[in-house]
Amino acid sequence: MKKTDFSKIYSYSKLKLFESCPQQYYFNYLDPEIAPIKKQFLKPRDYKVKGQAVHGAITLFYHLPKKKRTFDDLKKCLAQAWYSEKDPKKKMPLGGMGGFRDLKHERESYTESLEMLKNFFYIKEPDLKLFYIPTNKIQNSFCDYEEMIKPIDKKRYISGKFDRVDKLADNTLRIVDFKTGRKSSDQFQLTFYKLLAELNFNLPVKIVSFYYLNRKEVVDFDLSHTSKNSIKKKVGDKIKKIEDAWRFPPHFNGLCNHCDFLELCPARKIIKPKTKTI
Ligand code: SF4
Repeated sequence: MKKTDFSKIYSYSKLKLFESCPQQYYFNYLDPEIAPIKKQFLKPRDYKVKGQAVHGAITLFYHLPKKKRTFDDLKKCLAQAWYSEKDPKKKMPLGGMGGFRDLKHERESYTESLEMLKNFFYIKEPDLKLFYIPTNKIQNSFCDYEEMIKPIDKKRYISGKFDRVDKLADNTLRIVDFKTGRKSSDQFQLTFYKLLAELNFNLPVKIVSFYYLNRKEVVDFDLSHTSKNSIKKKVGDKIKKIEDAWRFPPHFNGLCNHCDFLELCPARKIIKPKTKTI
């Protein structure tokens, strides 16, 4: 691809967004006035800082030489990864820039992040063979997404980011996704990752693992019998639905209060009486 046309590239989260709220999808990717300046609408959120800091710390940790992968070093990685997308240069405490009410709130969030990293550190992985880890430029990781762009047919592309990919003893791959939120097992997400990895790495994906870091639990999904072509078909069908859409109605959902476009949403008046925190 010479000049990247990002409107033709679909990630798992982009496809999921269309399903959860077509109007939010429209604001994000299609609205000629809003989409190009959507970053201006992003509000600082404490849970985003926490999630990206835990993921960033793990990435930095894997970039350290093996001998330096101690818990103390992991703690240092967390301090490095604690930043706000709104103002990446701002040092701790991030305060309102990170969506924190006050210092106490930020300290609590930091402690919770550290707890998740403790859980990560004590998960036993004696035979770990890292095959892929994201860039250590954690504040500028769009290059990871760009590197993974692959066609699924003549005109559509998919991409996404992997937290970690391992090589197993039988020369197959295991994809690891670190979860910092609620438990979920979206079958489509699992298969999407498998397709993307197989297109990029040319090795079969046997397992996708979710590491729930707030409860120290690892759940493995065996995808060795799911075919690449069947996943391609499912992904293609979902993309076609978006391409064929001519209306993008708002779908109220439990996340409306966390939607960055709430103020612009045509359904705002209807949502307002149902919520208390707007
Ligand atoms: S506020 Fe709710 S309904 Fe409106 S765009 Fe956002 S998610 Fe969709």
